[in-house]
Amino acid sequence: MDFIPRTDFPDTRKLTVIQSKAGSVLNIPREGRFMNRFYMELPEGTVAREVKLEDLQETTRRIFHPYQIDFAETVWWSTYKVGQRVADRFTQSNRVFLTGDACHTHSPKAGQGMNVSLQDGYNIGWKLASFLKGQTEIDVLRTYPTERQRVAEDLIEWDKNWVKSIASKGKDQGGVLDANNNVDFSEIWVKARVFTAGLTIKYDDSPLTRAKGSLQSRAKNLKVGMRFPSSQVIRFCDALELQFLKALPSDGRWRIVIFAGDVRQIAASRRLSQVINIST
Ligand SMILES: Cc1cc2nc3c(=O)[nH]c(=O)nc-3n(C[C@H](O)[C@H](O)[C@H](O)COP(=O)(O)OP(=O)(O)OC[C@H]3O[C@@H](n4cnc5c(N)ncnc54)[C@H](O)[C@@H]3O)c2cc1C
Repeated sequence: MDFIPRTDFPDTRKLTVIQSKAGSVLNIPREGRFMNRFYMELPEGTVAREVKLEDLQETTRRIFHPYQIDFAETVWWSTYKVGQRVADRFTQSNRVFLTGDACHTHSPKAGQGMNVSLQDGYNIGWKLASFLKGQTEIDVLRTYPTERQRVAEDLIEWDKNWVKSIASKGKDQGGVLDANNNVDFSEIWVKARVFTAGLTIKYDDSPLTRAKGSLQSRAKNLKVGMRFPSSQVIRFCDALELQFLKALPSDGRWRIVIFAGDVRQIAASRRLSQVINIST
């Protein structure tokens, strides 16, 4: 539910996980300065359709005890059964493609559904466009299900552990304990950040990706099959400082990135000229 809390709990404006004997709440301070989103799981066997707002408020009060909490205004609330499911296949004969929640659903607690759905759309989008323009073969379309189904399966596996960690009260329930024997959720959260940012995805070898036989040593920080890393760079042609990926907009064009070294050195500059001559 999205609501404006009235409470003596000191940390409502911080991302918090509150774990108590009465259950757990994930608190996400919303944009603006007043509203909060609370996620909570209701007891096993609860029928989502029958839940009333008062039930959520009562559960929140019990979880917050001994702190007081009141609900000045509730802007939105909803209950639903979390399904952790992935479709058997993401395509029918490479003519129909499933993306997003149509082929994978999980809890909303890691804020991943939309992100992963957009990635699916991006993945099939450029492949369809290049295939329809006659630039690529059907093999490229076939990489959509192999790449994205694995990502969905990994996400659902990860979500199961994530949900368990939020609800857990101890190590035996999947939690990491701090020096006082409390679940140290901040550590779990920090570890999860790379995953939730989508930066751990690595596609297997396919007609598009070839780690086997690649000279990984030539670009150690660039892992074949993973997202191209971005960094702050100065563009040579106009001396503009920018994030490198900003120079590579997703407009359907193909780009070659050359790591030329320090082009002020004659040898590096010559090597670069040679590559440019070969490619033009
Ligand atoms: C409470 C909550 C919080 C969330 N928070 C986050 C978050 O912080 N970050 C994040 O990344 N994700 C979050 N998600 C998940 C995210 O909302 C979904 O993963 C995402 O919207 C999926 O996009 P989609 O386009 O696949 O499906 P949808 O957004 O469900 O779009 C499908 C559309 O198809 C329409 N439709 C259905 N049937 C038909 C039909 N027969 N004919 C025509 N139209 C039809 C529907 O009306 C809908 O508009 C959250 C989800 C929930 C429930």
